[in-house]
Amino acid sequence: MTVKIPHVTLNNGVQMPLLGFGVFQVPDDQTQKAVEDALEAGYRLIDTAAAYENERAVGRAIAASGIPRDELFVTTKLWIQDYGQDSAKHAFDRSLDRLGLDHLDLYLIHQPFGDYYGAWRAMEDLNRDGRTRAIGVSNFYPDRLADLVTHNEIIPAVNQIETHVFFQRTTDHQLMREHGIQHESWGPLSQGGQGFFDNPVLTGIARAHDKTVAQIALRWLVQQETVAIPKSVRPERMAENLDVFDFQLTDDDMARIADLDTGRSQVFDHHDPAGVKWLGGVRFNT
Ligand code: NAD
Repeated sequence: MTVKIPHVTLNNGVQMPLLGFGVFQVPDDQTQKAVEDALEAGYRLIDTAAAYENERAVGRAIAASGIPRDELFVTTKLWIQDYGQDSAKHAFDRSLDRLGLDHLDLYLIHQPFGDYYGAWRAMEDLNRDGRTRAIGVSNFYPDRLADLVTHNEIIPAVNQIETHVFFQRTTDHQLMREHGIQHESWGPLSQGGQGFFDNPVLTGIARAHDKTVAQIALRWLVQQETVAIPKSVRPERMAENLDVFDFQLTDDDMARIADLDTGRSQVFDHHDPAGVKWLGGVRFNT
């Protein structure tokens, strides 16, 4: 079965698949096979990061697939240690080299800490030079996003933030809408945490549609035109996670899911000073 994945149009006219495949915490030696399987299943958006230390394996899978470059949408991210205008440009070159590509589709600032203004200016240059078709940010809460938008020329095309049924980000979504910034969800399955797969509301809705809990959670995102990038290294789950375009959640389903929002991250508090300090010290071999 080949699933046709809808696209969204970013604020600069670039088309982005509404559903993609993420490789966070996939070990380097498993990543090539996982990405090959994902491409085989029909995914065309691949989401990696310098900090995931698996860009080379993503690149090998892309090369082995033989899929024309213009049918793929490749995202990677710049880590904090490489922020600042010059460092960011060098880090971009290294990521591109590891991926074996001559341009990116989307380059993201991974975290809103450190010299992300310098990094953003580098990204604006890379975008103007056509080396990346779109630029964006990740983990930017509304205040940081408003700040970046107010003081720079290019408005981010995307903000990739933790978003799932337990942390719905409605205020963030509204602000992004106002600025024409595409909302992209990371952790769309709540990383399996908080009793996600056994949640009675989700299992009930899943039963009613003859779908799985994962499919309900992903459908809930794409039905609001939020891009989702679930991760699994199992081909049957990759296929399951793609199969969300043949049904619709009802208004009643949406209202019941809205009640699951806790308004809090299940993973990391970007407002906790100790966490901010800790993250700023994390280094990768990028
Ligand atoms: P996720 O919500 O996609 O959950 C992944 C977990 O769910 C895995 O344990 C997997 O085995 C399981 N799973 C997947 N499909 C399933 C299914 N159909 N049935 C049962 N279990 C299933 O979590 P994630 O990987 O953290 O997020 C997805 C992607 O988002 C990442 O791979 C990465 O690309 C991106 N991400 C970005 C950031 C960021 O800071 N920008 C942070 C985390 C993740």
